[in-house]
Amino acid sequence: MQIPFNKPYMTGKEIQYIAKAHELGKLAGDGDFTAKCHDWLEQQTGCNKALLTHSCTAALEMAAILLDLQPGDEVIMPSYTFVSTANAFVLRGAVPVFVDIRPDTLNINEKLIEAAVTARTRAIVPVHYAGVACEMSEILRIAKKHNLSVVEDAAQGVMSTYNGVPLGTIGDIGAYSFHETKNVIAGEGGALLVNRPDLVVRAEIIREKGTDRARFFRGVVDKYTWQDIGSSFLPGEIIAAFLLAQLEDAQNITALRLARWDYYHTLLESAEAEGLLTRPTVPAHCGHNAHMYYVLLPSQLERQEVMDKLKEKLVSTVFHYIPLHSSPAGQHFGRAATTMAVTDDASARILRLPLWVGLTDEQQEHIVSVLLSSINELIHG
Ligand SMILES: *Cc1c(COP(=O)(O)O)cnc(C)c1O
Repeated sequence: MQIPFNKPYMTGKEIQYIAKAHELGKLAGDGDFTAKCHDWLEQQTGCNKALLTHSCTAALEMAAILLDLQPGDEVIMPSYTFVSTANAFVLRGAVPVFVDIRPDTLNINEKLIEAAVTARTRAIVPVHYAGVACEMSEILRIAKKHNLSVVEDAAQGVMSTYNGVPLGTIGDIGAYSFHETKNVIAGEGGALLVNRPDLVVRAEIIREKGTDRARFFRGVVDKYTWQDIGSSFLPGEIIAAFLLAQLEDAQNITALRLARWDYYHTLLESAEAEGLLTRPTVPAHCGHNAHMYYVLLPSQLERQEVMDKLKEKLVSTVFHYIPLHSSPAGQHFGRAATTMAVTDDASARILRLPLWVGLTDEQQEHIVSVLLSSINELIHG
């Protein structure tokens, strides 16, 4: 039997909530389901204000507008990330300044950030890779010292914490993703967490095509008008209905994923001790959400050969990211502030294993046994 890399998990309630939205006949954004998602996010994370968006990409674009970034302003971020982390800021004319990652968590190396700060630096964008928190205390210290904003790309970090504090609520602004490949899903979807109260009204305006429609609906103004730049960043109610079912089950989804993650970690313990691979590291103060299980292969192996062998045994695996500093757009729009030795090394050796709710012990044992025999064969011929 083929083991897919990902399989979206649905709780069963999604279709009931969609039927309800259908019955209510209010399908544009900011209806009852969106309000319920906002309440859930605010209560669960303790963020000051949550706003659903149609993607995490949209939330990051809103963050870049909110920070009033000007052409030539610099934004510090890892190169080892998804394109939207950088692209959202490039759309405002800002320059992504890439910093290398830590070899353990593959998160931005906080010790390298301060040396990358220049007179043009305006923000730091930590990406919580695999739902494991970046070193936020140090990042906040640097931001405060140099008067920089912090935008957390918490696309992968829904239900994760740093010293007990939910990711996305620590910086000035946070961005979540509910894309089908994440833990809590809506097909396409995201949320902007606005942690600074002074940014809320403008965030609402930016999200509603630059109008003060949100204030109009609250009865604060008697007509709504074009106030600022903006776009249409909100999802419709069908998406919000689907998402609410997922959010209500988020604790359970996370627990089920963590059980799968822990099982891989146990199954691979001795292989790591034998030097066949490196397992992921999760520091004790980071509560993670089991977004991803990956291994780093030994450097002498050809990753594609390992993946081909797994494919022959019907196991689908993937890798990512082509580092942004070496991508065509990254070279054009961005700048590397450090060597990228760890980024290049991790991106060449990482292999992501299937991880989804419903994966069985037997399937995981099969995946691990095929993985280890492939590595052994390739090492010993
Ligand atoms: C998935 C992801 C995004 C983009 O999320 P969308 O909701 O698909 O726009 C951005 N950053 C990171 C780190 C991601 O993993």
